[in-house]
Amino acid sequence: MKVPFLDLHGQYDPIRAEVLEAVTRVCDSQRFILGPELEAFELEIAERLEVGWAIGVSSGTDALLAALLAVGVGRGDDVITSTYSFFASASSIVRLGARPVLVDIDPTTFNLDAEAVRRAITPATKAIVPVHLFGQSADVDAILPIARAAGAAVVEDACQAIGARLGGRQVGGLGDAGCFSFYPTKNLGAFGDGGLVVTNDEGLAATVRRLRHHGQTEPYLHTSVGGNFRLDALQAAILRVRARQLDAWTTSRRENARRYRDLFAAAGLAGQIALPEERPGRDHVFNQFVIRVPDRDRVQQQLEARGIGTAIYYPRPLHLQPCFADLGYRAGDLPQAERAAAETLALPVFPGLTESQQVQVVEGLKLCVQQTQSV
Ligand SMILES: *Cc1c(COP(=O)(O)O)cnc(C)c1O
Repeated sequence: MKVPFLDLHGQYDPIRAEVLEAVTRVCDSQRFILGPELEAFELEIAERLEVGWAIGVSSGTDALLAALLAVGVGRGDDVITSTYSFFASASSIVRLGARPVLVDIDPTTFNLDAEAVRRAITPATKAIVPVHLFGQSADVDAILPIARAAGAAVVEDACQAIGARLGGRQVGGLGDAGCFSFYPTKNLGAFGDGGLVVTNDEGLAATVRRLRHHGQTEPYLHTSVGGNFRLDALQAAILRVRARQLDAWTTSRRENARRYRDLFAAAGLAGQIALPEERPGRDHVFNQFVIRVPDRDRVQQQLEARGIGTAIYYPRPLHLQPCFADLGYRAGDLPQAERAAAETLALPVFPGLTESQQVQVVEGLKLCVQQTQSV
């Protein structure tokens, strides 16, 4: 039996009729841009995420772009973020003419190291972008006071962490603005691209709403230069249906993570494979279940040969990307991220993964690790 890294059918088949009904409703209305479906989705998701305002946008990348623009990031500014993240965490900063200041991670959570953030602050620091990587909140309680003291905005990259909490509060609303992605593999996926900016600041919400629609305040009156960052009514309608399943899907992901812990412990692999750590007070939503394993690339190939799908997030930290060479970083500058890039492996954790599939993953890994040790 094969174990796919991801199978989205389990999240679609049971709600197929409701999804198609929502799609039909939008098609019959012939209202595809802005309008009531998007407005309804924004109100529902703001309530779910416990924030004042939610603004649907075209992707998680555009959410970051619009939020950073809204807090005033531009040419000559520095923005601090994690070097161990998806490309958009840093590219959105560069797109605005600002400079990403890439800092290292805490090796146990893979999230931004708050001490490294403190050391990176300069008078040019305009914003900090903590990334809630793999579904666990970054240490925003430590980062927020550092940002406040420096007069810098905090824009959360919560693209992988919808529903995660820090001390009971949901991510996204912890700082000045929060950004989510509805890319199909995220915990709440659309049927295409989509994203969201959330905030508790009414003025900031109005700015983001304007920016996503060409900075327009009334038809053909532009008070600033935004973009076409709108979320389609079709995606909003689909997301309204799918959002009702989010809690159940998150419960399933957490249950899968707990079961991996039991299975790894029973297999006696605790010494050789490092499992993801869930810090107290942080409700991890396991967009990814990421382990560290010796000789990672070979282990991945051997698992693949046994029909077990895995993925690597991320094989190259952002400070070593060719397009950021002019930032002047070198290999060795941010060692924790570089080590993680060489050692981490994401295992299947999607909702609907079965216990027998998980047993197969752990047994496969046990064989791989034994082989690695015997050569
Ligand atoms: C997915 C993701 C993004 C970008 O989202 P898109 O919707 O694909 O544009 C940004 N940051 C992180 C951490 C992500 O995982």
